[in-house]
Amino acid sequence: MLEFEGHIAETRDETHDVKTFVIEVTNQIDFIPGQYCMVSLPGNKAFRKEWRPFTFVNIPKNEYVELMVKRMGAFTTAMHNMHPGDKLLLKGPFGEQLNFDESIKDDVVFVAGGSGITPFISAIRFAASRNMPNRIILLYSNKTVDDIIDREELEVLGKRENITVIHSLTKKIPEHWKGIRGRVNKDVILTHVDDPKEKLWYVCGPPPMVQSLKGVLGDIGVPEERLRIENWQIPGKG
Ligand SMILES: Cc1cc2nc3c(=O)[nH]c(=O)nc-3n(C[C@H](O)[C@H](O)[C@H](O)COP(=O)(O)OP(=O)(O)OC[C@H]3O[C@@H](n4cnc5c(N)ncnc54)[C@H](O)[C@@H]3O)c2cc1C
Repeated sequence: MLEFEGHIAETRDETHDVKTFVIEVTNQIDFIPGQYCMVSLPGNKAFRKEWRPFTFVNIPKNEYVELMVKRMGAFTTAMHNMHPGDKLLLKGPFGEQLNFDESIKDDVVFVAGGSGITPFISAIRFAASRNMPNRIILLYSNKTVDDIIDREELEVLGKRENITVIHSLTKKIPEHWKGIRGRVNKDVILTHVDDPKEKLWYVCGPPPMVQSLKGVLGDIGVPEERLRIENWQIPGKG
């Protein structure tokens, strides 16, 4: 684990409450897709000693880092108010649970809720860039269409032969919505995933979603060792 200095090169509005930050870093950060870094804001009095976790969404081996950050509370609001040229400190990489690279030979199912998509954006970008042969199914759940992060890119990636992207919405579902209506449950999984027990499952999202998926996958008979789970939860937070 190392500490890196970074400067914001570019910000982009991703959704109404998610921004992409392209950050130039002094040294290349050697991470594996699925890993995250801790971020601090040295130019901000309130947050120069605070660190918060955010996941790399780009693929490794670049002199920049890309993060997609959802506005939740004071720290992420301060980040959303930052501009190109502003300084950040990054520590990392961290994380093992959601790591995905060429050492993974299994077919995988990624289940994401909301901003829990970030590790899988990096993983799917990586798989596509290396032409990895693994079959990848992404089940991506959001409340509304407006909450879907990186929709256009996922649509393009989902056209590849071995990558399937399936969206689900739980609220304000448009009349002609072609994806899943409601939560990702047992029926949804049995309809969209062939041989679920043979797949390697990655789950990332809000704790209630992660808990419910754990139960459902257990019911279906997916062995626990084929489950890789990251609670999108900061230790100590409700
Ligand atoms: C390993 C890891 C990787 C992460 N990667 C990303 C990422 O790539 N993009 C991203 O947008 N977010 C990510 N997060 C979540 C992100 O770190 C938090 O949303 C952020 O730290 C919130 O800080 P804040 O001060 O703005 O909000 P806070 O003031 O800390 O919280 C605001 C409100 O949101 C609630 N809250 C905050 N964080 C969480 C949480 N994680 N789970 C449940 N409730 C919460 C608080 O209880 C509070 O009500 C990640 C979290 C972890 C643990």
